[in-house]
Amino acid sequence: MAGIQKFGFEVLHEDPGTRARLGVLHTAHGDVPTPVFMPVGTAGAVKAMPADFLEALDARIILANTYHLYLRPGHERIKKLGGLHSFASWNGAILTDSGGYQVFSHRELRDISEEGVQFRSHIDGSQSFFTPEKVIEIQRALGSDIAMIFDDCTPYPCGHVDAAASMELSLRWAKRCKEEWNRADDGTQALFGIIQGSVYPDLRKRSAESLRELDYSGMAIGGLSVGEPKDLMYEVMESTAPLMPADRPRYLMGVGMPEDIVRAVAQGIDMFDCVLPTRNARNGYLFTSQGRILIKNALYAEDREPLDPNCSCTTCRKYSRAYLRHLFLSGEHLYAVYGTLHNLTFYLDMMRKIRQSIRLGNFGKWFGLMEKEGD
Ligand SMILES: [Zn+2]
Repeated sequence: MAGIQKFGFEVLHEDPGTRARLGVLHTAHGDVPTPVFMPVGTAGAVKAMPADFLEALDARIILANTYHLYLRPGHERIKKLGGLHSFASWNGAILTDSGGYQVFSHRELRDISEEGVQFRSHIDGSQSFFTPEKVIEIQRALGSDIAMIFDDCTPYPCGHVDAAASMELSLRWAKRCKEEWNRADDGTQALFGIIQGSVYPDLRKRSAESLRELDYSGMAIGGLSVGEPKDLMYEVMESTAPLMPADRPRYLMGVGMPEDIVRAVAQGIDMFDCVLPTRNARNGYLFTSQGRILIKNALYAEDREPLDPNCSCTTCRKYSRAYLRHLFLSGEHLYAVYGTLHNLTFYLDMMRKIRQSIRLGNFGKWFGLMEKEGD
């Protein structure tokens, strides 16, 4: 009998002009071509998107939030119901974050110590305690294909002394996560390390080098897109990416404007997630090949044109801008469905174009063009 597919990563092509690479993640829930964008499915559902829409879009991997699923409906219940894939009826791959970022976002509700983080639920105020071991146990119960280590995420701005202390604590937690993960490792669930260190190159370097020794299945850059200026984010990303192991997937967490993704791919980043396409869609901001559209704008009141004439999604094939604007202004739930479908199509099409250009060896050239257009 063939065994279950173990987690693995292969680099298939490298772009001659940049550090971009084409690869594939092998998971127990299918292969995922990289560079990849992972739609965010916070509570085990990508908001307003039926799973078969995601499948039709050829989305191979989604992200789910450990913190939210732990609070509701609870990881034990999900495990009892067959794990997150079965519970959510999603046959593709799932990456679970570790909850570090969510605990960080609800800063006023938390109390941090060497052992872990005591926090109050944003739903009902109940107290919980996350340790590195507990967070691995939760992700194991959820049964995600890729688990993330539990880390402390610093806000921006953050002084060097505080950033160093936070990064060192994250390193000690990283080691505890790895030890806990090792105990039950059967090769199917990957564990990624997360490089921290705020905007300080020396801290990022120490974090990356120490994590490298712990030999994770993949490596992520965390703690970016937390309010720092864009140039600084690019600087940190560009100086940190080369410190990540070349034979493992590299994941840039929570960064996701289209131009950011292209820039990061050029530095050899393979994986992305961001709430932008889904959240922006619900707020009426739609990405198109001709620029961003705010659908509530009066300009579109009698506009019979599709949202994006260059998009092949159902929204663009069936509906006019005028109708979408009407749905949005009327607060119709259907608007969220078709807005989200379009924005995710835009993102996943962009990733397909990126992969194709790496395959053809002209990503560098294409990236050069994008740079000029962005200026
Ligand atoms: Zn569309």
